[in-house]
Amino acid sequence: MFHISTAPLNREQIQKWVEEYGYVPVEPPLGIDLFAEIERVKKEKNAILLAHYYQDADIQDIADFVGDSLELSQKAAQTQADIIVFAGVHFMAETAKILNPTKKVLIPDLNAGCSLSDSCPPERFAQFKAQYPEYKVVSYINTSAAVKAMSDIIVTSSNAAAIVQALPADWKLIFAPDKNLGAYVMHKSGREMVLWDGVCMVHTIFSYQKIRQLREKYPDALLIAHPECEPSVLEHADFIGSTSALLNYVVQSPAKQFIVATEPGILHQMRKRAPDKDLVAAPSEYSCSCNTCPHMKLNTLEKIYNALIYEAPEVTLDEQTIELARRPIERMLEMSRALGILKK
Ligand code: SF4
Repeated sequence: MFHISTAPLNREQIQKWVEEYGYVPVEPPLGIDLFAEIERVKKEKNAILLAHYYQDADIQDIADFVGDSLELSQKAAQTQADIIVFAGVHFMAETAKILNPTKKVLIPDLNAGCSLSDSCPPERFAQFKAQYPEYKVVSYINTSAAVKAMSDIIVTSSNAAAIVQALPADWKLIFAPDKNLGAYVMHKSGREMVLWDGVCMVHTIFSYQKIRQLREKYPDALLIAHPECEPSVLEHADFIGSTSALLNYVVQSPAKQFIVATEPGILHQMRKRAPDKDLVAAPSEYSCSCNTCPHMKLNTLEKIYNALIYEAPEVTLDEQTIELARRPIERMLEMSRALGILKK
């Protein structure tokens, strides 16, 4: 992976490598303590490292802030740092850039995309939206900046049901791109919505048949699930919530054992915050580790170190997209604070 052992000569060379590989493929100096070096460079450059709960444990441990999409976007909106390194996937780094257009936003590996965001290409979404001219668009944060720019409000799994419920009753709504989350939000909010037909490749793969076998093995365990899971899993869940909500539930619940149906990166925080609880990762339908997000796992400590040293790959967006996409994100942050979901 890191096959180039000499440091690049200039910005042009770095840019060429980023275009070719999606990251800076230079091997970090032999024998360095990556944790200490990342800390040092962060301080030197006034940089902040934000990490999603689905990152590997070592990245979560070195991050300045770990959270779900809603918490990370609020953190990105509030930071005083000059550089934001986003250890997550591309749409998250784009969101940070939209909220901080004058700051440098780096992502360790540009290849860290998202199957759900990719399931909603902007051109196809524009055609879909044109079929419903009187409708407002509610988009999940897991969308490209271009789709956000076509939206009236953004939501995350932490606030989707509450925000949809609070929208004016005479608004007709489109929800994109996750149809499982959309169906769950319709059920919770009592609002009808037209759903875009997208799913997350990780959450759609959990199989209730396999989970049922696990429940027989662990009869006292509670099943907790992310709303991107299929309805067959959600209808059997004891608790449904965003990644943060699942974490808080494990910490606060008197139960001792949980089957966790979401990306297993969250188990690291659950074990840290609730060491006395027994956690079982829900299995996927197939005999594979496809319940792990391959996009999230592209980030490594080495790539984070290189991103900080070489200030690349950088996430850039044109001004018009930033302007159009910022309004629906800010609307979400305002509504989340007004509804008491985020602290003011
Ligand atoms: S877990 Fe699913 S929604 Fe989240 S980044 Fe991976 S593919 Fe996208």
